[in-house]
Amino acid sequence: MVDQSRKETQCVHYGGEVEAEAKGLNTPIFTSTSFSYLNTEKRLYPRYFNTPNQQVVADKVARLEKGEAGLVFGSGMAAISTTLYSLLKAGDHVVFQPGIYGGTFHLAEIQLPNHGINRTFAESQRVADLERVTGSTTRVLYLETPTNPLLSITDIEQAVKLAKSRNLITIMDNTFASPINQNPLPMGIDIVIHSATKYLGGHSDICAGVVVSSHALIGLIRETALNFGGCLDAVTCYQLEQSIKTLAVRVGQQNRNAGEIAQFLERQPQTQRVNYPGLRTHPGHEIAKKQMTGFGGMLSFELKNQDGTAFQKKLRLIRPSMSLGAVESTICAPATTSHLHLTPQQRAHLGISDQLLRLSVGIEDSRDLIADLSQALT
Ligand SMILES: *Cc1c(COP(=O)(O)O)cnc(C)c1O
Repeated sequence: MVDQSRKETQCVHYGGEVEAEAKGLNTPIFTSTSFSYLNTEKRLYPRYFNTPNQQVVADKVARLEKGEAGLVFGSGMAAISTTLYSLLKAGDHVVFQPGIYGGTFHLAEIQLPNHGINRTFAESQRVADLERVTGSTTRVLYLETPTNPLLSITDIEQAVKLAKSRNLITIMDNTFASPINQNPLPMGIDIVIHSATKYLGGHSDICAGVVVSSHALIGLIRETALNFGGCLDAVTCYQLEQSIKTLAVRVGQQNRNAGEIAQFLERQPQTQRVNYPGLRTHPGHEIAKKQMTGFGGMLSFELKNQDGTAFQKKLRLIRPSMSLGAVESTICAPATTSHLHLTPQQRAHLGISDQLLRLSVGIEDSRDLIADLSQALT
């Protein structure tokens, strides 16, 4: 039977039915790392990625992403590195779109070539540019949309077409959109990855990652995961499960707030270049409308005549802070945080100026956030 329920309902009710004894509404926390093996086929162990708390949260995210199965990891990077190493071996080639998360970029730059895996960064996320660097040994196409911090949009439908014609496995880092705003699997993407540290956790207190895919691919990734060992403990799994119950409500409010703030910033004479896929002026707006059900809580903009650090110090509500996706609004200057390690030339090439600020919009009342931005701009 096709499940007709909506995301708000699914976030609350998917997964979490393991309490047989007292029939409590919450999943009990199974803290054991040692489980009996007599009279059962099961061999439970946290690093086998199969304890009750791990399975409940993996299943919840898998169903929200409309995938068959999931695995929960100790961080987003554990999920990303384990997935790439389970699909690639020496001599293989992988194509990355540009603008991907910094940690993934470093993995691609340093680790993969050390293991004989070749990689190329495409010139842009446009499909013609992705195709140009695809060769006979290419196995994987790695995508991320929207990107950090410019919110560039990759056309998922076009990228999937290219991948199918070249027999590539597609990976999508869906962290920025969250499963509420974008489900890449039904569009033909093979593997979806989340840094659950961001929207899924949503309260700036959990570090975790999730991979969702078919039973076959999850089986393959799990074999590598057992050896790499990037598993998540039961207590954090429980916290993550509780957080996801409010994911759709949080993201809904973040979508609305970010839309209002983007429009406000675009009207201000002190700002320029507001990057938000929900704005008609955004170059990826039409594609975003096609593949996203909400435009997300992330945006970035440039200040015209004010130093970014001075501006951030004037803010009273919005917290200058790294990371993103939480209930509280946070702001950072990518040139001095996520993209600090790059040369000024590399940053200029990517379009990341010293004046660029990235805002992760929280669930506060948008009027309070706009008032805060307004007083800091003047
Ligand atoms: C934070 C982030 C990651 C890495 O996740 P960690 O949980 O920090 O390991 C990967 N991709 C994106 C888009 C992110 O924002």
